[in-house]
Amino acid sequence: MCIIDRYNVPVPRYTSYPPAPAWGPMGEEGFRKALAARDHSAPLSLYLHIPFCSAICHYCGCSTIANNNAALEEQYVDALCAEIALLRSVIGPAHVNQIHLGGGSPTKLSASQLSRLMSALRSAFSIEAKAEIAIEIDPRTVYGSRAATLQTLKTLGFNRISLGIQDLNPTVQQAIGRGQSAEVSTSVYRHCQQLGFESINFDLIYGLPCQTVSSFSETINRVIDLHPTRIAMFSFAYLPELKANQKALSKALLPSPDEKFQMYCTAREILVKGGYMAIGLDHFAVPADTLCQSVATGSLHRTFQGYTVLEGHEVIGLGMTGISDLGTAFFQHAKTLPEYLDAIDRGAFPTARGILLTPDDLWRRFVIEQLMCLGKIQKNDFEKLSGESFDAYFHLNLHRLQPLIADGLVTATSTCLEATPRGQLFLRSIASCFDAYLEKSTFSSRAI
Ligand code: SF4
Repeated sequence: MCIIDRYNVPVPRYTSYPPAPAWGPMGEEGFRKALAARDHSAPLSLYLHIPFCSAICHYCGCSTIANNNAALEEQYVDALCAEIALLRSVIGPAHVNQIHLGGGSPTKLSASQLSRLMSALRSAFSIEAKAEIAIEIDPRTVYGSRAATLQTLKTLGFNRISLGIQDLNPTVQQAIGRGQSAEVSTSVYRHCQQLGFESINFDLIYGLPCQTVSSFSETINRVIDLHPTRIAMFSFAYLPELKANQKALSKALLPSPDEKFQMYCTAREILVKGGYMAIGLDHFAVPADTLCQSVATGSLHRTFQGYTVLEGHEVIGLGMTGISDLGTAFFQHAKTLPEYLDAIDRGAFPTARGILLTPDDLWRRFVIEQLMCLGKIQKNDFEKLSGESFDAYFHLNLHRLQPLIADGLVTATSTCLEATPRGQLFLRSIASCFDAYLEKSTFSSRAI
């Protein structure tokens, strides 16, 4: 069996550990208790989920709602403002150093709705002057007659922009039901540059229908010419049994696992030659970017929003499906809009699921995050954290790692485990060797 077949099995993306499928039902009492117990002087990140899109793209795997009813969006913004006030009443005037609006399409909201959200946040919490304020943008929502939205974002203090590009190739755009022209993508990018946003990220996806190694390489070269500060290059997860919208994609047009792997390797090589530093599994950044510096200082973290530089580690998610990471516990809000709106209407947090982390979870989380962020784990760092011997504690996991060592993906010394350059492409597989939930849960996304 070739190496791609051997490791192309379902494993988590490790945006959290324990992974979300291992979490269980949880009510709001647990969430309130964890909020009350947090160190109120610690900096906090806030994530606001805006689920609406005008239409659902065929490939989309996000928690989205197709909506063109302005009244519903207004009702949702009201609910988010109420949730911000509820959170303030429980945690006080917390110190916030990061805000992220994700979706869905946050820029589908009107300028006044975005302003209302930012005002609610600024009046509830103490937002650091240098806070990272980021937003995910579907370029189609800020183009032509909607172009002024970008100036609104700048005025509201947003400094980090993430543009949903996916691919610049028109055939691929048609196949994924998005139809976003290269002209829209590049013109919105230029406009963001003119407005002086500090950091502009391109979201790209490989493994989409109609993509080839050659077509995707061409997109990557065009992206390098544009020179965004960051690039996130995600693997497409084809899950039509979970995501009904993906049934509109033609399976016959998808690249084979081998082609998809070549697409990733070639794109990675072009990006690195083009001056970008590879960060973890799927992010790339120009050397001056804080992501690159955070690799050197060991302050890089992996969250549900991808790789990030965080001073603190706590994230509170607001809105439908919002996920909170309070260091020793994860919580997730209700996944449907009626459940979310109903809870907020009752003055309750819409907590639906979660998990309280055991010491074993915390230690494995540390090891997995180090592997996913830095591609290595110093045994000594684990031992300082846990007081346990790395080799003794993980002797079964080290046994699981043996085939990956034999395949040249990992080097193991008495002090360190480190992914080889080839192993950097299989970080999820390497991390999975330390996952205690892997055999108990089902994961649908493949490693490649
Ligand atoms: S615009 Fe983005 S979030 Fe909305 S459906 Fe398309 S891929 Fe999903």
